[in-house]
Amino acid sequence: MSARHPIAIVGGGPAGALAGALLAAGGRDVVLFDEKLAWEKPCGGGLTHKALQQYPFLADAGSESNPVEHCELISPSGQRVRFHMQYPVAIFSRLALNGLLLERARRAGVDVRVDVHKECVTRIAGTGGDWQLVTPQREYRASYLMLAAGARNPFRSQFLSPIPPSDLMVTAGYFIPGRSSLMQIQFLKGITGYIWVFPRADHVSAGIAGKMGETSTAELRRILEQWLEENGFHLDGARFYSHILPSFRAQTFETLEACGEGWAMIGDSAGLVDPITGEGLYYALRSAELCAGALLAGRPDDYRALLEEEVLAELKLAARVSQRFYSGQIFGDSVLERMVSLTAQSASFRDLMSDLFAGIQGYRDLRSRLYRILPSVMAEGLAETLRRPWTNRSSNSGGSEFATDPIAE
Ligand SMILES: Cc1cc2nc3c(=O)[nH]c(=O)nc-3n(C[C@H](O)[C@H](O)[C@H](O)COP(=O)(O)OP(=O)(O)OC[C@H]3O[C@@H](n4cnc5c(N)ncnc54)[C@H](O)[C@@H]3O)c2cc1C
Repeated sequence: MSARHPIAIVGGGPAGALAGALLAAGGRDVVLFDEKLAWEKPCGGGLTHKALQQYPFLADAGSESNPVEHCELISPSGQRVRFHMQYPVAIFSRLALNGLLLERARRAGVDVRVDVHKECVTRIAGTGGDWQLVTPQREYRASYLMLAAGARNPFRSQFLSPIPPSDLMVTAGYFIPGRSSLMQIQFLKGITGYIWVFPRADHVSAGIAGKMGETSTAELRRILEQWLEENGFHLDGARFYSHILPSFRAQTFETLEACGEGWAMIGDSAGLVDPITGEGLYYALRSAELCAGALLAGRPDDYRALLEEEVLAELKLAARVSQRFYSGQIFGDSVLERMVSLTAQSASFRDLMSDLFAGIQGYRDLRSRLYRILPSVMAEGLAETLRRPWTNRSSNSGGSEFATDPIAE
């Protein structure tokens, strides 16, 4: 790697901006390009407790995020349960989150290409430790190349094979004016994905995701609009968005080469998104941290092993069980229906759900925890059934009261 040239980061989303900040703080010369800089990237913006613990400056962001403590799960048949999350999900507007991360990078000393224009990298050439990056403004040289250009990473095919449609989700959504304190997740029949409503500090991000090829974006949009209308949301003043989301199969994760000679991919560029939940922010930040750490230690190739241990092991497991989660059966019912009814009936199961939403319950020890809590879950389920035989046993649970209108100005 030639020390004469800086490290170039293509993409200033969460992955690129954090990598830049860490590298510059470690004394490296870094240049970062983003064609839009801080922007409202289509996203829910939900950050888990695990992410906030790992990156406390995000927990301190105060008014930039909306800490949400209550969640409503809705099964495909319409069973609803609301529960309290012990660790709130911090929901950010992406404009605010990206702005905050880019500002930290700039303050750490990263040359964020903003002075004259936002710079879009249009061409990358070179090899190993000597890269040439072309933007409409000028040409740059770089000793190391970090690709953080997101799911639509235009340079992926120069380094890896393109992402096939079977490894992608399509999403459609709206940024809706208004405020709420309730996060909602609606699972759907025949769609590998879900509808979400994520309330932010001054608006709501509501969207829908489904596997590419399974349903068209137009159909997803229609389903979402109908659901929003039925659930009391009004689209006056709302802004539509749509984007792709990596959702890798297990075999794709198995063969992923996230780095090579003089280059690495981080975040969505590398496909580091949980194929069940669509969570990508934590993995974007974590992969950036691991990659920057390996570079600062002078052992860039260590990124491969660190990523495997810290990120890919979890994501591979999620990919393996994703199909079973969305279309499997358990005890004579669909996994999704059963999950919602157990959340309604059992405090032990609600604790588990709360930890899953906090990101502190991983997939690796999920099965053993399920076995451990099974007796309590069964006993609590039975007690709940006997206690409330005359009501809809899967309705509101967890001891909280909620307004019926999810958007309260
Ligand atoms: C609809 C939707 C909802 C989501 N909700 C959540 C959620 O609630 N929680 C969660 O954890 N994850 C969520 N995700 C995933 C999350 O958005 C991504 O995982 C995250 O943005 C990845 O960060 P990144 O930095 O890798 O990429 P990005 O955030 O996509 O950043 C890439 C950057 O690269 C720039 N760029 C691209 N090409 C070039 C170029 N040629 N030159 C210069 N710059 C370039 C872009 O402008 C962009 O700023 C969601 C995704 C979608 C699509």
